[in-house]
Amino acid sequence: MRIVVDRDRCEGLGMCEAMAHEYFEVGEDGYVTVLDDTPPEAKRAEIQAAVDACPVAALSLRD
Ligand code: SF4
Repeated sequence: MRIVVDRDRCEGLGMCEAMAHEYFEVGEDGYVTVLDDTPPEAKRAEIQAAVDACPVAALSLRD
């Protein structure tokens, strides 16, 4: 599983960080940084919730 970010879409709204702060951080530049883009399978539900929470669909998961 790999987290993919479309930084052109990200608006720095921080929903992903709120849902999974171990994996997403909104920087001072106003864009999300993925702290670990290959999370373990056990984290899939948490990461999927964060992906789904992004209001501008900037996040996706690839297997
Ligand atoms: S929820 Fe979406 S728009 Fe907001 S910081 Fe995360 S990736 Fe960017």
